[in-house]
Amino acid sequence: MDITRRGFLKGAGIIGAGVAAGGLAACSPSRNASEDSANEATTTQGGQLDNGMVDWLGEPPSISDEDCSETLDADVVVVGLSDAGCAALRAAAEEGARVIGIEKSEDVVTAGTQCTVIGGPLQEALGRPEITTEEVVRQLQIESGYRSKAAIMERFINEMPSVFQWIIEADPDIFVTDTCFPVLSEEEKTHALIPERYPEPDPDWSFRNEAIPTFPGTFTFGDLTSVMKKNVAKAEETGTVETYFGHFAEKLIMEDGRCVGVYVRRAEDGAYLRIDATNGVILATGDYSSNQDMMKAFLPEVVEHGFDMLWLKTDVEGNPTNTGDGHKMAAWAGAKIQDYHSPSMHHMGGGAGADGRGVMGINGYLNLNLKGKRFMNEDLPGQQVENQIELQPRMTTYQFFDSKWPEQCSKFPAGHGVVCYFSEEDETSYINHRSLADVEAAVADGRALSSDTIEGLLEQIEGMDAEEAKASIERYNELCHNGVDEDFHKMARRLFPLENPPYYAVKFEPCLMITCHGGPSSDENAHTYTEDGDVIPGLYVAGNTMGDRFAMQKPISICGVSVGLALFYGTIAGRNAARGI
Ligand SMILES: Cc1cc2nc3c(=O)[nH]c(=O)nc-3n(C[C@H](O)[C@H](O)[C@H](O)COP(=O)(O)OP(=O)(O)OC[C@H]3O[C@@H](n4cnc5c(N)ncnc54)[C@H](O)[C@@H]3O)c2cc1C
Repeated sequence: MDITRRGFLKGAGIIGAGVAAGGLAACSPSRNASEDSANEATTTQGGQLDNGMVDWLGEPPSISDEDCSETLDADVVVVGLSDAGCAALRAAAEEGARVIGIEKSEDVVTAGTQCTVIGGPLQEALGRPEITTEEVVRQLQIESGYRSKAAIMERFINEMPSVFQWIIEADPDIFVTDTCFPVLSEEEKTHALIPERYPEPDPDWSFRNEAIPTFPGTFTFGDLTSVMKKNVAKAEETGTVETYFGHFAEKLIMEDGRCVGVYVRRAEDGAYLRIDATNGVILATGDYSSNQDMMKAFLPEVVEHGFDMLWLKTDVEGNPTNTGDGHKMAAWAGAKIQDYHSPSMHHMGGGAGADGRGVMGINGYLNLNLKGKRFMNEDLPGQQVENQIELQPRMTTYQFFDSKWPEQCSKFPAGHGVVCYFSEEDETSYINHRSLADVEAAVADGRALSSDTIEGLLEQIEGMDAEEAKASIERYNELCHNGVDEDFHKMARRLFPLENPPYYAVKFEPCLMITCHGGPSSDENAHTYTEDGDVIPGLYVAGNTMGDRFAMQKPISICGVSVGLALFYGTIAGRNAARGI
């Protein structure tokens, strides 16, 4: 059975006009496993609940002590050993707890590399501008439609610099590079911390002048997997840590409303283990992008439009790791799952592959839809670019620029997915840098179109109304010469007329979804909450299993916020679980 967005709304409609008027929020109780909603929403055979919603949860597996061949005992159990889980493992161990880590893959493997750190000694040493917590938290709240919890971000921004120092001290050879495009050997890369978009391409640029700022507070790990493995090794030095790879956590053990352990399946022989957790269990199992039922329930547009997803990690049985296991275990234990989830869909420009290097990034050059019409102030970060493209006919548009791009690119913001560095030679594959050869290669392999005339360029664009497009370009050139964008209000320093051949056009379509965000309702202590707003004792969440961090869309104004939050709240969850907070 397939459920489309339209089907989803239709299904919601059968509940009654009051619910329909209340929008999707009114549908949300049946997404949760609170006792009331579980009673109301009985399942049907087709995987759909009788209120029209997708049955993403189903019944918990019927595992009991009788099925278990072994019982293990710890103070804290960490489920999932990646960014969040490795941090939790070490944090709990260094607080003196006996810790067991469970991971369904063969080894620690992380996905992202960029990590937010606003302020602190490393940023100060680089001379980065001071950024207040208030300005970051306010921006994040705006981008989440004020449907996320400010306290989660507030604590993260304030305390991340010290947690980051603690994480990186696991690698005594770690070092900060001088610029964002260092030339490094493979060995050096393992220990490198690269300051993103540093030094800034235009000394006159300030994030404070942007309508949607990109805060200069991101480090890229040359090899985050290596750093997290070193954190596990550091945890093991305490002598109180055991790790079990190739083991699948399947169900939490609850006693009188408290989480007291977890049932785990050993993949090798299918045997079940009971693991008791005196202080609690930390769920750090990542997101649910590869769970179709959860995607249909929480992010139906992504499924309906068939947007591509990018996820590379597999478990020991060959399946993707991000299947929402922690979300389901928490929901079965009575946790509320937050409303208004967010797909992470940050456009990187047309022609981008898995390396994220679009031909001319998301630079705010003129962009026209297939009707030949301009439709936005193009000067937007990648998530907002994506949102605007999805509104256009056939979700297809074209970005236009000309041969002057090398001298123009530094005028665009030093932001995620923006081409803002240029050099003649192809010196670096840095994501925000392009050379002449990069653009030539894109023309040669068909990712960019090129012509010496506007007419010649438009002729090559399949499905575009060339006459309208020509008129739009003439109008745009006029606005550029007047220095005022009366139509869409783009700032004057980014109004570049198209009049210097050769001209280029790059196709924009919806980008890949890399992760999705939304999980068990949480707080700045990594606790988990019931539908009634009560903390579930002994149950903690971190990383992409943690709810209430973002909503509606993932903010891109602080790049690396996913990895940053995972490392930070993994650490907080580990410390709190060990201390019984
Ligand atoms: C290609 C790519 C690039 C990215 N780049 C960035 C970036 O630069 N910056 C950024 O901020 N974000 C980035 N992201 C997103 C970021 O990587 C993730 O949001 C982040 O890694 C989440 O970490 P996590 O620890 O919460 O989850 P995960 O890394 O998904 O780890 C969860 C772990 O739990 C294990 N697990 C799951 N279920 C069970 C179970 N039942 N039993 C036992 N173990 C289980 C999984 O095997 C996995 O190892 C990127 C994502 C992708 C795909």
